[in-house]
Amino acid sequence: MVSVEIISEEDDQISVLFKDADRALLNAVRRNLMAHIPKMAVDSVRFQMGTYDQCSKCGHLNPAGVARRSAGGTGCSKCDALFEKEGEDYVVWETNSAIPDEMIAQRMAMIPIPTDMGAYTSEDECPDCKDLVEEDRGCPTCNMIYTLRAFGSKEGSTITAGDLVFLGDDSGSIPEKYRDIPITRLYEGQMMEFWATAKIGYGKDHAKWSTVAGVSFFPRQVGVINNAKKAKTLFDMGLRVSKKDFKDGRLEDISKVLDLKKDLHNVGAGTGMRDSFADAIGLEDVEGEFIMSFETDASMSPGDALNASFAKLSERFSAIKDDIEHVL
Ligand SMILES: [Zn+2]
Ligand SMILES: [Zn+2]
Repeated sequence: MVSVEIISEEDDQISVLFKDADRALLNAVRRNLMAHIPKMAVDSVRFQMGTYDQCSKCGHLNPAGVARRSAGGTGCSKCDALFEKEGEDYVVWETNSAIPDEMIAQRMAMIPIPTDMGAYTSEDECPDCKDLVEEDRGCPTCNMIYTLRAFGSKEGSTITAGDLVFLGDDSGSIPEKYRDIPITRLYEGQMMEFWATAKIGYGKDHAKWSTVAGVSFFPRQVGVINNAKKAKTLFDMGLRVSKKDFKDGRLEDISKVLDLKKDLHNVGAGTGMRDSFADAIGLEDVEGEFIMSFETDASMSPGDALNASFAKLSERFSAIKDDIEHVL
């Protein structure tokens, strides 16, 4: 029976040890993590286009031109201040930036959206809109909506993920660590306004729906002293691993073995010591044991991602089993 043990988990990174497993299983888990676990990501962005005259007195945004005296306007629609001189009575803002809207939308897609699978469902499983045609789908049960309205400045202002406002409770806010992801930079007279809609999807359809990065696995190894006399060459260097870390000529501690791997680079190929060291300390694979490591983009914790992967895998295997039983 396969068992899984967490070796280390911090922030968005995790390392787990699989026992009684094989490469095929580890690879299935790896592929599942990348392609088949549900995650929220921005899928459409609706940009508001326009030009505004901002009242210098009350800050209200009036549609461009209509309030200006020169165009026969009667002033600010909120405070009635007269708009005589541009730059003094009013400032003109245009929804414009150096970066095209398509690129802004693409950047929005890559910003990690916190994914609470207990609170949202995917559109095609949504109890409220799954029966609608695809373009009509989207409701508070399956979509998360973010808004942004940002203004530039003379010296330039960087608009970041932290400027996004989630329409809902705090659980949808962009995680602290990722709030400074830049979206664009705006200068005086430039503004940006949009609504972004996030929905659940899968990594197999687009990288924006893949929560994991750098998923890798390798066999668990132990260090073995083959030649005590020559092994001293390495220990005498005073690096990470010393002789007393070994018990009966073997080093089994997982993190110490990783240190040993790094230490061995000092006596390996290209060091000029390869021949004299002559593999005095070797590394041996442990049968059926593998270490998997990966990180997530903060849309969910790595532990949640791993559990979601196991759940999905077992669901897919059961479906295959049912199909086979049906056919036979
Ligand atoms: Zn005003
Ligand atoms: Zn819905």
